[in-house]
Amino acid sequence: MSDYNAPVKDMNFVLRELAGLGDICALPYFEESSEDMVESVLEEAGKFASGVFAPLNTKGDLQGAVCEQRAVQETAGFADAYQQFVDGGWGSLACSPEYGGMGLPESVGMTVMEMWSAANCSLGLCPMLGQGAIGAIEGHASEALKDTFLSKMVSGEWTGTMNLTEPQAGSDLAAVRTKAVAEGDHYRIYGTKIFITWGDHQMTDNIVHLVLARIADAPAGVKGISLFVVPKFLVNADGTLGERNDAYAVSVEHKMGIHGSPTCVINFGDNEGAVGYLVGEENQGLAYMFTMMNHARLNIGVQGVALADRAYQKAVSYARDRVQGLAAGDRDKGTIIRHPDVRRMLMTMRALTEASRALCYVASSAFDAGHHSVDSELARAANSRGEMLTPLAKAWSTEVAQEVTSLGVQIHGGMGFIEETGAAQIMRDARISTIYEGTTGIQANDLMGRKLLRDNGLEFGRVVEEIRAVQVTAAAAGSDFTSMAQSLEENVSLLESAVNTVLSEGTGNVHLSGAVAVNVLMAFGTIVGGWQLARAALVARDKMAEDPTFYATKIVTARFFAEQIMPRAKAYLSAAGAGSDTIMALEDSQF
Ligand SMILES: Cc1cc2nc3c(=O)[nH]c(=O)nc-3n(C[C@H](O)[C@H](O)[C@H](O)COP(=O)(O)OP(=O)(O)OC[C@H]3O[C@@H](n4cnc5c(N)ncnc54)[C@H](O)[C@@H]3O)c2cc1C
Repeated sequence: MSDYNAPVKDMNFVLRELAGLGDICALPYFEESSEDMVESVLEEAGKFASGVFAPLNTKGDLQGAVCEQRAVQETAGFADAYQQFVDGGWGSLACSPEYGGMGLPESVGMTVMEMWSAANCSLGLCPMLGQGAIGAIEGHASEALKDTFLSKMVSGEWTGTMNLTEPQAGSDLAAVRTKAVAEGDHYRIYGTKIFITWGDHQMTDNIVHLVLARIADAPAGVKGISLFVVPKFLVNADGTLGERNDAYAVSVEHKMGIHGSPTCVINFGDNEGAVGYLVGEENQGLAYMFTMMNHARLNIGVQGVALADRAYQKAVSYARDRVQGLAAGDRDKGTIIRHPDVRRMLMTMRALTEASRALCYVASSAFDAGHHSVDSELARAANSRGEMLTPLAKAWSTEVAQEVTSLGVQIHGGMGFIEETGAAQIMRDARISTIYEGTTGIQANDLMGRKLLRDNGLEFGRVVEEIRAVQVTAAAAGSDFTSMAQSLEENVSLLESAVNTVLSEGTGNVHLSGAVAVNVLMAFGTIVGGWQLARAALVARDKMAEDPTFYATKIVTARFFAEQIMPRAKAYLSAAGAGSDTIMALEDSQF
């Protein structure tokens, strides 16, 4: 049986009230979508996640994928669950109707992705990667490639993978060495990729690999990387499957978590060379891959939210059951939920989870507006907002997920350290989320270099303006809102001056930006979290009579965040203010 209940009510609230679902559904592209229809989709998805994916979560942990004779066998039961996923059309929700998708907003696709990741993080990764691959093919490949691959990928009949990493090329993709040699209308691919998620399995009869490789004589560095579609089985002109391609998984990694997700070493071209088809133009591969990476980054951010929520649900349930000690003010011994410190942990988990959910959904809906607004100025502004929020959504949400899932273990006491309860699995599964799809350090560099500095802080200024507007409304909203208004006022000013310092002094100190980046990102993420929860609390005030329990909880959670979490922003900024001196002071040999 499942112990996961998708928080459909909160998801729906965030989509409607914070992420502007109504406005998104009003765009001509989404004319088939409506808020009510989305709500029904979320309810059904929640049932599917807890009924089909969640019961296999522990099994995936205990009986992870194995690789034998160049073929990966996934956890028993996953294939059947995945087939039900395909039959239910779940993979195609946010895909283009042109290829059989339902054409719902990407923010709705992401919400549902939160459910898959919470219910079964390992299995959820398979459609997550597939959808990124669909986006890259749809955005950049020829019509012929789209016609050959997209409809089967959208339906989920074929899965997709992302092949970037090589032993010497991790964060630095400029170092990619896999080779592509032209041969008629295709290329032959030679090289080894490592860490490829769902790189092989037996759940579907084909797998579509997207592979970064270099064509002979391509320029050095990132300007010489091209993107190729390399199917596991070649596809005949009539759409039937042809020969086995020369691309084989040769091993799977033994990992700290997500054991049910095969993380493969894939050899391309051990024999005659793997047939690959160029996507778009030569040497534009990295730019195309970014289509996929932005999608994946937001979805990994929401994976952090998912595991945080799962940890919270488990911790609440344990805290309600476990009898231990006499809480201050009580006459009888009771359950641990009575102890103020346990409640502090639960509130921290709750507040960080809700804040990161809001951040991720708001970022995703900005891209819905950016990609589909008819007004080009609105589209530009929305894309710019989505791009600003993406590194925060990815890095802040996954960093706080480490804390939340660890608190989940703590609330279980000794039992948290014992695998049986499942709290440890959630923590182990969450650990990778700050690493793949660009580590926290890489996200922070992206925030500083590309998002803040590139337009001289223009988009950042717009975000600050909007935070200040919420702060002013909160300040006038009564005593429950005072701490929200004060914490936003104080911290947004500190953030602004930290960013201005980096903007003005960065050129004179090459180390400054990299040294302060993660602290600035963590402060910014915290402040955006506080901003979104204050917005939620203001909506709650207006709607209180409709559902007093739900909305009163929203206000308390936002107050808790303002009073107990927001002080962290000041500490991060104070550390950032100390600059790079001590960080760079020791010689390499002194470490
Ligand atoms: C379970 C799992 C699944 C994965 N799935 C996929 C997949 O499907 N496809 C795929 O292509 N890859 C995948 N990866 C690879 C993953 O994306 C990389 O591991 C990740 O990008 C980090 O690269 P790396 O491991 O080489 O670490 P490195 O790049 O060596 O980084 C090591 C440390 O140095 C820091 N660092 C490196 N460069 C910089 C810099 N410029 N500035 C600041 N700090 C820096 C990093 O932040 C990190 O702390 C997966 C990895 C794992 C473990």
